Amino acid sequence: IGWGEGSAVSLLAEKREASQAHHRGACLPPSYLYHMRLSDDVLLDVMARFRAEMAKGLGRDTNSTATVKMLPSFVRSLPDGSEKGDFLAVDLGGSQFRALEVKVFNDGKQSSQLESKFYPTPKEVIQGSGTELFSYVADCLLDFMESKNLQHKKLPLGFTFSFPCKQTKLEEGALLAWTKHFKVRGVQGTDVVSSLRKALQKHKDIDVDVLAMVNDTVGTMMTCGYDDPHCEVGLIIGTGTNACYMEEMRHIDLVEGDEGRMCINTEWGAFGDDGALDDLRTEFDRELDLGSLNPGKQLFEKMISSLYLGELVRLILLKMTKEGLLFNGKVSTALLTKDKIEMKHVCAMEKYKEGLSNTKEILTELNLFPSEEDCIAVQHVCTIVSFRSANLCAAALAAILTRLRENKKVLRLRTTVGIDGGLYKTHPQYPKRLHKVVRRLVPNCDVRFLLSQSGSSKGAAMVTAVAYRLAAQRKQIDAVLAPFLLSLDTLREVKNKMRAELEYGLKRETQASATVKMLPTYVCGTPDGTESGKFLALDLGGTNFRVLLVKIRSGRRRSVQMYNKIFAIPLEIMQGTGEELFDHIVQCIADFLEYMGIKGARLPLGFTFSFPCRQASIDKGTLVGWTKGFKATDCEGEDVVDMLREAIRRRNEFDLDIVAVVNDTVGTMMTCGYEDPNCEIGLIAGTGSNVCYMEDMKNIEIVEGNEGKMCINTEWGGFGDNGCIDNIRTKYDKQVDEGSLNAGKQRYEKMTSGMYLGEIVRQILIDLTKQGLLFRGQISESLRKRGIFETKFLSQIESDRLALLQVRRILQQLGLDSTCEDSIIVKEVCGAVSRRAAQLCGAGLAAIVEKKRENRGVEHLQITVGVDGTLYKLHPHFSRVLQETVRELAPQCDVTFMLSEDGSGKGAALITAVAKRLHNIGRK
Ligand code: ADP
Ligand code: MG
Repeated sequence: IGWGEGSAVSLLAEKREASQAHHRGACLPPSYLYHMRLSDDVLLDVMARFRAEMAKGLGRDTNSTATVKMLPSFVRSLPDGSEKGDFLAVDLGGSQFRALEVKVFNDGKQSSQLESKFYPTPKEVIQGSGTELFSYVADCLLDFMESKNLQHKKLPLGFTFSFPCKQTKLEEGALLAWTKHFKVRGVQGTDVVSSLRKALQKHKDIDVDVLAMVNDTVGTMMTCGYDDPHCEVGLIIGTGTNACYMEEMRHIDLVEGDEGRMCINTEWGAFGDDGALDDLRTEFDRELDLGSLNPGKQLFEKMISSLYLGELVRLILLKMTKEGLLFNGKVSTALLTKDKIEMKHVCAMEKYKEGLSNTKEILTELNLFPSEEDCIAVQHVCTIVSFRSANLCAAALAAILTRLRENKKVLRLRTTVGIDGGLYKTHPQYPKRLHKVVRRLVPNCDVRFLLSQSGSSKGAAMVTAVAYRLAAQRKQIDAVLAPFLLSLDTLREVKNKMRAELEYGLKRETQASATVKMLPTYVCGTPDGTESGKFLALDLGGTNFRVLLVKIRSGRRRSVQMYNKIFAIPLEIMQGTGEELFDHIVQCIADFLEYMGIKGARLPLGFTFSFPCRQASIDKGTLVGWTKGFKATDCEGEDVVDMLREAIRRRNEFDLDIVAVVNDTVGTMMTCGYEDPNCEIGLIAGTGSNVCYMEDMKNIEIVEGNEGKMCINTEWGGFGDNGCIDNIRTKYDKQVDEGSLNAGKQRYEKMTSGMYLGEIVRQILIDLTKQGLLFRGQISESLRKRGIFETKFLSQIESDRLALLQVRRILQQLGLDSTCEDSIIVKEVCGAVSRRAAQLCGAGLAAIVEKKRENRGVEHLQITVGVDGTLYKLHPHFSRVLQETVRELAPQCDVTFMLSEDGSGKGAALITAVAKRLHNIGRK
């Protein structure tokens, strides 16, 4: 076997490079070198091991024993190009210590300006005491600021500190362990940011604010991310080696919260410290480790990074020489000296294009007197060692890329890896080799490798700049959403105002001008179970128009059976003439009777008509005014039962006995009341918002009689139409109101019900976009469309089970092209709007239950509320927040919430049955 024939079939590049040497007739490579040549199968295996180790590092229970620490960096966002300002940075932990000033311009061209100065890191500083180290850093920074005339400016500073740190904030992190050639006393386990701050405070004449600490990998990613928005991986191959990438928050057990992403500093250098790579490590790796500052630690790094490459080569050459394979077996003192061969030598020797001259020169300097064959062999040792480095690095990187691809649930990943580090930058073959192997290991990733210019140092400034931008944006977003956050006091005020309006509506003198109309329904009792018979019901006023046949049985076989058919009401009919509307309704009834085969039977009918009606009896109802989406002409002020009767007469095809006109809230209360006699309140939170409840007759001044109770349809949607809650209405509420069919009316409903919540959200999104806080400041065509943001999307977006990616997909369906940060904001907006709706609704309900408690004159009230409406039933948080608010604002009431099943259909039939029963009793 010659030098050129690797046992690994896939090492094409290495083979090609090596074959040049082969032709010149080199000697055979010793067998222990084969062990350093890794086939793709081995690399895939390393990749799998690294993936497992990443998962271990991310897990709450496994993190403590993981070697790859997967440290959260608290960097959640990449630059978006709108960053600006003047920032300082210090970079400690790379090959050179450096202070910088970075100016970032928000000029649309992603430009920045960097000025910096390098400082030496003398051994007594990097292997001395902590206090000395940080005051040295502060001294250097002061010197830099003086040289740039910056000492009188107050500048934010980012601190690149390239050692594994356990961060708890962006500007707080405790050193876990020194790596590379650093070994400073008294720093491990302490917060390095506060140490730096303390050292800086000693210089009274400068005012520097340390805002962020970052690892060099994170800095590199951020710097590249400024130029390329696809960048989400940072890689360092220099003195040390490490990588970071953007991980989904929901996979990061160690940090609260599930939203969005956070950059994870993998600290992959420690991979293998538990023995996971022992099968791949050679005797040279072990020897090198034993002679290092941190034996047993950073074993992966020691196989890869530039700090160790030369030494590995030296150890191999030494062994080969001792075996007589090189230099006629003559070992020089230089070859026996630790670190005598450095990365720069390896790089120079691997410049194949320059032949053997570099190699010869370097070996000669080491007093080794090489023959040409020696030079070829040494060149190959270098190649084997540095190729192994690239291979291992590629395997771990491939594992990260695979993770990213799976996180995003895409078949092909397009991404950019930002890279910094001396080995990658100066080694003649390294980048080419790395790219090739990565592409081979993860063929389903389109990777761009972007070399970062001063990435690791500039990055700290970029992180600071992003933190600055985010803080400013956060302030703006908070300001927009602040009016949606209602304090308990405000909610109490709403409850009290509602209570006052309820009273106005009940009083003879004030009811005419009351906004909460408190309409008597002439429903005076709940079902008692003796009701029975076949009934027809109509349900108009919701999303769907329905006709139902309801069969009620009493006694032991007590049950309710229903058959229903849904009919569409076209917009032109909803907003056409009254006659057209009622003709259409009768047409639908005719279809239904036909369909059920009951056209001949003159059935009693209950008409659920969910609009405010002034009733004079149970079968008379004058429409006060349309709400929700309806606007048919010539109906307001008319009796809806008459209009229905006339339409039936016009058709002259069948006859019906219209017994009751019913509001959907009342139907809901009755339906629940059929199961639970304690149910005396009906609540609807669907397209609209409304409540009814059983009121004492003596309190209802506009209806004769003082005995018993009657159900009052509050029509509370009109609460606030006199301006009494204008103090909590936002400009978005006003915009929604102005764009509605009934401007100025139903102000409370417009803040609380399904028909409007999505529209409020849309208005806020438009405003945030205008302020440049969303969708890159671009208001898309679809965002301009009224009604595109339906309330069902709020439910979907706010669902806890939904990952951000799915939120993005929903927004995409709506034609809104959002980033990850955008979707977090949209979700926040939805939450603010729906939460306020539930709280306002709860405050109103608290007023009702409190009133009922006082009516009964009890210290403690137990009551059931029957509820219907898709908003209540399907929104993930609405019902909970509503209930919490009621509990908070009406602590003396113990309220049970009972979901009604089809309240408007079943309820209408039950009311009809009760009315029929009472009517018959009356006749007898
Ligand atoms: P009604 O029109 O009789 O009130 P619903 O109670 O079914 O009928 O309410 C329908 C309204 O509920 C829709 O107009 C819409 O605003 C809202 N809505 C529909 N789907 C959802 C959902 N998934 N989450 C929250 N609200 C919804
Ligand atoms: Mg309904």
